[in-house]
Amino acid sequence: MLTLAFLGVGSAFAKRNFHSNALVEAWATGPDQQDEPDDNLLIDFGSTGPLALSQLTQRDGFGYLSHQGAIRYGAIRRVFLTHLHADHIGGLEELALMGFQQRRGGCPAEEPSPRPMLFSSREVLTDLWEHSLKGGLGVLDGRRTGLDDYFAPTALDPGGTAAPDRFVLGNRYEFRLFPTDHIRLQRRFDWPSFGLVVRDRKSGESAFYSGDTRFDRANLEANGGDAKIIFHEVQLDPEPPPVHTLLAELLTLPDTLRRRMLLYHYSDRWDSPEFAKVSHEFGGFARPQGRYVLFE
Ligand SMILES: [Zn+2]
Ligand SMILES: [Zn+2]
Repeated sequence: MLTLAFLGVGSAFAKRNFHSNALVEAWATGPDQQDEPDDNLLIDFGSTGPLALSQLTQRDGFGYLSHQGAIRYGAIRRVFLTHLHADHIGGLEELALMGFQQRRGGCPAEEPSPRPMLFSSREVLTDLWEHSLKGGLGVLDGRRTGLDDYFAPTALDPGGTAAPDRFVLGNRYEFRLFPTDHIRLQRRFDWPSFGLVVRDRKSGESAFYSGDTRFDRANLEANGGDAKIIFHEVQLDPEPPPVHTLLAELLTLPDTLRRRMLLYHYSDRWDSPEFAKVSHEFGGFARPQGRYVLFE
């Protein structure tokens, strides 16, 4: 079984929900039969990530992520980064540092465990260290450190030529990245940002995770056209000019796609009456802090 729980479903500037980060868990049987999944993956970990994850540990079935009231960062096996905005990477300094200390023995519950694998494109991984993390993490115990002191970085290539374009969880679930049209320097895809297609090798079913993106119907249909569940980002208000996907744009999609679609990355106005139509026109707004079953 593969499940996905959003730590939060909010936009970058939302205050009523945490940032849109998700915990994916692979189970031999399922959360009803197991205390802990066999493998897991964080999709992004933004500035609100540590607080959101702390709250998640209080929920039924997520106790394995805490120890004596603190987050057990050693329980996080893998992290995938869609892109470098702070609502997607702002919690990584804490995850890196606390994980490092827990692996060194600061957390009694933690057996010596490997560094979490860190997946994204080579450009994202390089810029993550040089422009975001190095300032806070670059020196430890009187020596200079690098990204691989904290993580096992693994570069992916959406073209699949310079590196694989996918990784596998639980020897069964394939995660393939694809570029998204989020921020442009001069043209589509020249600023690195990614979404994910997840495929169950056993059933052949797939799920789609849009990442941050402008409306891109061709990309959605190519990568999510046959997905049984589609997690898609949304911007509820037409202003500011979008680097995201407007609700009005998603409403132009055929009913067959919209019914399978859960919207995330939304602003604090989601429960205004004008957005009540989301529950009729789509699968609804994604809910935070609970598991969705992607594949049985
Ligand atoms: Zn975002
Ligand atoms: Zn973004």
